[in-house]
Amino acid sequence: MNNIENIVVDTGTTAYPIYFADDFGSLAEAAEKCGYKGRKLCIITDNNVGGIYAETIKREMEKVFSEVKVCTFKAGEKSKTLDTIRDFYEFLLENKFDRKSVIAGLGGGVAGDMAGFAAASFMRGVDFIQIPTTLLAQVDSSVGGKVGVDLGSYKNVVGAFYQPKFVYINTSSLDTLPKREFSAGMAEVIKYGIIQSEDFYKYIIENKEKIKSFDKEYIRHIIRSCCEMKAVVVSKDEHDTGLREILNYGHTIGHAVEGLKGFELLHGECVAIGMAAVTDISVKRGYIGEDKLAELKELLKFFDLPVSVSGLKAENVYEQLFHDKKVSSNKLKFVIADSVGSTIRTSDVAKDEVMAAINSVIED
Ligand code: ADP
Ligand code: ZN
Repeated sequence: MNNIENIVVDTGTTAYPIYFADDFGSLAEAAEKCGYKGRKLCIITDNNVGGIYAETIKREMEKVFSEVKVCTFKAGEKSKTLDTIRDFYEFLLENKFDRKSVIAGLGGGVAGDMAGFAAASFMRGVDFIQIPTTLLAQVDSSVGGKVGVDLGSYKNVVGAFYQPKFVYINTSSLDTLPKREFSAGMAEVIKYGIIQSEDFYKYIIENKEKIKSFDKEYIRHIIRSCCEMKAVVVSKDEHDTGLREILNYGHTIGHAVEGLKGFELLHGECVAIGMAAVTDISVKRGYIGEDKLAELKELLKFFDLPVSVSGLKAENVYEQLFHDKKVSSNKLKFVIADSVGSTIRTSDVAKDEVMAAINSVIED
């Protein structure tokens, strides 16, 4: 595939490309490269994304696959359940899919996580392709192989590590993405700057107008940069036992807010609140200046993201932290910035520090 750019995610056990394109016109070629000629494909997607893109992708994929079926679920995090997965299995069986068949996840993180989980478990595992269409999925969830579903209010507690055969990112698919969803994705983009690269962080600040006005050149650059950074982290720690934890910057408190606010706030919005909170610890410890925290909050606000939350009690948020699946032996783990572009992972954070951080984002 020389007409579109790609990078490779190499986990040591497996390696796969992430393609960056401006349309879906190279999908068949990517599939052919995997040796999928004559196989069957099931595209798992939600009703929004499916309604816009499934037909185009189906036609494209029919150039390679002998048969392409589209399996649609109702859009939204509420669908991310084992019941929906069961519906997929039934669809796959009714349509005579077998171990040689391939499953593609088309849509945001919800579609990708569920399609991946179905692929990991159907017939003990069939090949899987990621076609992410939200900014959040393109810069985060589609890369790295985490797949799964929620159980009640517990997010992603049932799942697997299951790497795709390739990820295909069509930047133009963001044209139809609701603005609020785009903003939510920007929280994760900004996160990469703080944890990994001051240069990238500065790039976002310097070009924020261009990014917000959706200038393709800038959007392409940020997506590619985030994928490169994630690829490096994932390749060093595929199964999330160490380094990969830095990707959880802002997520410890963010997840607690998300749990307590139910489905009112988007994941990216909670991550924005969580980043504002946890960065307070860095400021209090003297790792970074007050001005840097103010700059971060301004940047998040510029992208229409919240940096505080109403209707919550700090003590309840603190309690909720212990429900996170990342908590082991009742010890909270935090990723803290020791400067912009660099982080430390630590369990050594006092309750007072955490409470102050939470209080710094709670509105009366
Ligand atoms: P996330 O990627 O943030 O995990 P979802 O998978 O729930 O979230 O997607 C967020 C919402 O955006 C869903 O309602 C989904 O149908 C919709 N959506 C996803 N991608 C697009 C797109 N490219 N155009 C329009 N709507 C989209
Ligand atoms: Zn996240």
